[in-house]
Formats: sequence, C-alpha cells, structure tokens
Amino acid sequence: MKVSLRVRAGFAAGGAVSNVAKRFVKAIVLFGSPGSGKGTQAKLLTDCLGIPHVSTGEMLRDGIRQGRGVTPKTAAKMQAGILVKDAVVDAMVEERLSRPDAANGFVLDGYPRTLVQAEHLTGWLAERGIHEVVIHLAVDYNIIIARLTGRRECPRCGTLYNVVLRPPKVDELCDLDGEKLVRRDDDREDVIRARLEAYDRQTRPVLDFLRSNGGRVIEVDASNDPPEAVFQKIGRAMEN
Ligand code: AMP
Repeated sequence: MKVSLRVRAGFAAGGAVSNVAKRFVKAIVLFGSPGSGKGTQAKLLTDCLGIPHVSTGEMLRDGIRQGRGVTPKTAAKMQAGILVKDAVVDAMVEERLSRPDAANGFVLDGYPRTLVQAEHLTGWLAERGIHEVVIHLAVDYNIIIARLTGRRECPRCGTLYNVVLRPPKVDELCDLDGEKLVRRDDDREDVIRARLEAYDRQTRPVLDFLRSNGGRVIEVDASNDPPEAVFQKIGRAMEN
C-alpha cells in the first residue's frame, strides 16, 4: 500500500487557508504527555488534512461506553491512570489502521506509548513502506496539572473545553449542542500524577526510539501558546 497524503490546507490562525508548500506525509504521530494538547491538535490536523484521528484513549473509552471489547480489568487500569496491555492496544490500532478511511494517512494520538508498541507500529509501517512524522508537543508539568484539572469534554460531540483557559460561553454547557460538559474520571489530580509518572517511565523513551529508528521528529514548544498558535507552529515546521 502506498500512502501519500498531501498537506493540502493551510495552518493559518483563525481557520484561514494559506498556500502551504505541498508536502507528502505518510503518517503523523502526535507525541506528548497527557494534557499536552494532543487531542486538540489532532482534531485541527485531521480537519485540515481530511484524514482520521486515531486516539487509543478515545477508542478505549468508546469501548467502555458501548460495553464492548474492553474488559473490566482494562477499564480499572484506565481509571487509575495506568497503561493497559500492549497487546490490547496494538490489536486495536492495527485493526483501525487497516480500515479504508486510513488508507491515505492518519493522525495517531496517544499511541505508541511503550517501546513494545513503538516496535509494533514501526514494524507495521515499515512493511507498508510508510514513514512516520512525529510531532512532539513539549509542555511544562505544572501547566499540565492546571490544564487537566480544568478540562471538560462534551459527551456528545467530543469538543474540549477548559474552565479557566477555554471556558464555554454558558457555564458547563457545550457551545455547539448545549450538552452538559463532563470531567473525565482520570482527570483528578492523584490520577493525573499517576499518568504523568507512567509517561515519564514508559512513554518518554519511545521518543528516542522513534528518533533512532529514523523517524522525523518535530519539536514544538506548546507550553504557553493557544491551540491555534501551536497549530501554526506545527504547520511551519512541517513546511520546512
Ligand atoms: P488518553 O486519553 O490518551 O490519555 O488515554 C487514557 C487512558 O487510556 C490511559 O491513561 C491508559 O490507561 C489508556 N491508554 C490509552 N492509550 C494507551 C496506549 N497506547 N497504551 C496503553 N494504555 C493506553
């Protein structure tokens, strides 16, 4: 399978489309700690590029909501902020990437998170001649804790808010569909600390692995800028 997708839209602020250099991108891996803004950037990228957003966290939460494919043991691990088994997520991602809508490319969010997963993914990509582009969103941990404790999500459309940084127009209600916003079970401070610890110990080494494997890694400082400005930085870096 030859996967080549064109970065066909711009990354200008406010949704304006600029004439971005035409680039061929094989697969995008959004990398960063919990709360670094991967989900938001993934949504902006997928809207812009017309390729699917593959979030392992969302797939697992969907499985729990719909009562299929996720065992109680896996759900309990997620609630405690612990990583679930590699074999579970590897199989889930492989099945997702094999669907037709991913044939032109995809944005991976929250995967790979361990060296075992990284080896699985790079093997899968190499078999298909696909080269990944890794975007590393670097954010200070104190900012992350403030972000995650204030994070709210619309259970219907998935739009993300932050009670301090990006509040909805009406308190606790989604701007788009009026649904009552919810806080994720794992956005409590003790669980956030467990998730950051898991990130430091198990996920951070994955970046070095991807780098040494020959993947292109784009470093983006995402600590202080609003999402649109981070998106512009990503666009500029991808143009180079
Ligand atoms: P996220 O929404 O990406 O922060 O993921 C929420 C939770 O789902 C994590 O804390 C893990 O328990 C689980 N999870 C998501 N992606 C993975 C992965 N690639 N490997 C292992 N566990 C994962």
